[in-house]
Order: sequence, then C-alpha cells, then structure tokens
Amino acid sequence: MYDVIIVGGGPAGLSAAMLLGRCRRRVAVFDTQQPRNRWSQSMNGFLTRDGIKPKEFIELARTELQKYDIELIFKLVKTATYTKGEFVVNDEDGNVYRSKKFLLATGLKDIMPEVEGIMDFYGTSVHHCQYCDGWESRDKAIAVYGKDRKGVGQALAMKTWSDNITLYTDGTDKLTQSDRDALKRNGVGICTSSIARLEGEEGMLQRIVLQNGQVREQEVLFFATGTMQQCDLGEQLGCEFTSKGVIRTRRQQKSNIPGLFVAGDASRDMQLVIVAAAEGAKAGVAINMELEKEYRK
Ligand SMILES: Cc1cc2nc3c(=O)[nH]c(=O)nc-3n(C[C@H](O)[C@H](O)[C@H](O)COP(=O)(O)OP(=O)(O)OC[C@H]3O[C@@H](n4cnc5c(N)ncnc54)[C@H](O)[C@@H]3O)c2cc1C
Repeated sequence: MYDVIIVGGGPAGLSAAMLLGRCRRRVAVFDTQQPRNRWSQSMNGFLTRDGIKPKEFIELARTELQKYDIELIFKLVKTATYTKGEFVVNDEDGNVYRSKKFLLATGLKDIMPEVEGIMDFYGTSVHHCQYCDGWESRDKAIAVYGKDRKGVGQALAMKTWSDNITLYTDGTDKLTQSDRDALKRNGVGICTSSIARLEGEEGMLQRIVLQNGQVREQEVLFFATGTMQQCDLGEQLGCEFTSKGVIRTRRQQKSNIPGLFVAGDASRDMQLVIVAAAEGAKAGVAINMELEKEYRK
C-alpha cells in the first residue's frame, strides 16, 4: 500500500511528489509521458527556467526526485476507484495498486482547429496561450483563430503584444455588432472567409491561404478552441467539474472526494507550468497533513 498514488508526471505531479518524498512518504507516480506542452520548443515564464525545453525541464525534475522514496511508473492508469478510505488503481497491464491518498495531475489537451497544415507550426508559430508565447510574438503579424465569437476576447487581448492583429472566424459569421465595434475601435482586422490551409517553412508560419484563393501574410497564429481532460479518471472517481470542463477544487487542491486532490491544468485556475507546480506543492502539503493526523497515535 502506498501513502500516495499520483497520476500524471508533469510539473504538477512531480512537484507534489518532491514535497511528499521530502516528507518521507511512499509515493508512486504514474505517467504516460504526454505532457500538454510537448509540442513546444521552449517553456517560457518559469522563473530561473525561462525558455528551457519542456523535455529538459521534466528530465531535471525526475533527476532531482531520485533521492526520495518515489517510484516513477511509466504506464497508463486505466481505472481508479475509491472505497472506504482506499484508492485502487489498475494500470494498462492489469496490475493493481492501492493507496491512502490520491492526486490527480493528468492535465488537459487542446482541441486543435481543423485547418490543413496546422500541426507543422504548432508550438513554434501556432500557439494557444498569450502568456506562454505572446512575448516571442511581439510586433508580429498575428492571426487569431476562433469560430463564431470564440476568438473575440483573445484577438483584443493580443493587442498587448502587437498592433497587427486579425481575427479569423473560418467561414462563420456570428460576430455581434458590439464585437465588430470593439474590434474596429481597437484596430483589429476581421476575416470571416473559410481557411484552406496554413503555409510556411521550418515551423514558421508565413501565410494563410483562404478557400476563395486569397493569400494573407501572417507570422503567428493564436487559437481559441477550448480544451478537454487528458483522461476520464476524474469522472470515474466521481469528481465535480466546472462548466469549463476542469475539476472543481476547494482549499489546498481538495476535491469533493475525501483523500482525493487535483493539481495542475486538470483543476480550475490558470494553466501555466509554474502554477501547476505550485498547486502540486500545495496538494503535497495538504496530503501530508492529512496523513500525519491519520498516523498519529
Ligand atoms: C504548445 C503549448 C505550449 C505551452 N507553453 C507554455 C509555456 O511556455 N509556459 C507555461 O507556463 N505553460 C505553457 N503551456 C501550458 C503547460 O503545458 C501546462 O500548464 C502544464 O503542462 C500543466 O502541467 P500539468 O502537470 O497539470 O499537466 P501536463 O504537463 O499535461 O502533465 C500531465 C501528465 O499526465 C500524464 N497522464 C495523463 N493521463 C494519464 C493516465 N491516465 N495515466 C498515466 N499518466 C497520465 C500525461 O502523459 C502527462 O505526462 C503550454 C501548453 C501548450 C499546449
């Protein structure tokens, strides 16, 4: 029996593991090695690690964990149940593991726009988060992709980084008059034509080709198409979700299930590596405090 099973070995899960390892807890971390930012070349905005490759960051973290009683198990957790104070987990090979506490740190995945060529540029000149990649895109010709009205907020927000912003609604025309007025007032262009494909070289976007044959020069594209949970363990365990599809957490990353904590992108709040790591640390402290009480005579 482990003290804690952590599912997800990204920044949230590994940060919790470090905290719990330092509290002499027996911890298993399961990971399928598919962190959300694996498409990206650089992980920006993490103090002391600004611009590091995401893979290198995870390797550094795993090396630091070696001195603690932490097992890293590179397997998919297929099912998880909770009954009477015990969590039971099954991996992809049918092995069974048990723990007193459980941390879900399984992250989110992005719903990609269905545009030909987009994956050639994802992580280098196609992005979803202005706080991650806005600075590197400053003063560039920025396209914002969002069908219906989904891109309006992001198009306006991108003005912080460039004066050259165009919103693409890709064949939809649901902008309200007030959207159009706000975009015009702020100098944001609008293109409602359907997109045929993205073109460029070596990961760098150069143009958007429209179905009507027009070609528009663009250097960067940010998209606003939403996210989904990486796996359904939260549902299996009976977690409450918000209307945005993330798990509702309370103080110290607690969920509605006793002994079950959620940290990182899978839970509510900002989706940044440094926030995920901080939430992992918060969950680690809270889990340790619960264990201390339970072990105390
Ligand atoms: C292209 C891109 C670029 C980004 N750039 C930045 C940036 O520059 N700066 C920044 O701060 N943020 C950036 N982000 C956001 C950042 O990736 C997330 O905030 C961060 O990864 C969240 O960490 P996490 O630990 O919650 O989840 P993740 O890092 O996604 O890790 C979750 C882990 O859980 C594993 N997993 C999931 N389900 C299971 C299961 N059932 N069994 C076993 N393992 C499982 C996955 O394989 C994965 O390794 C970027 C995101 C994207 C998509």
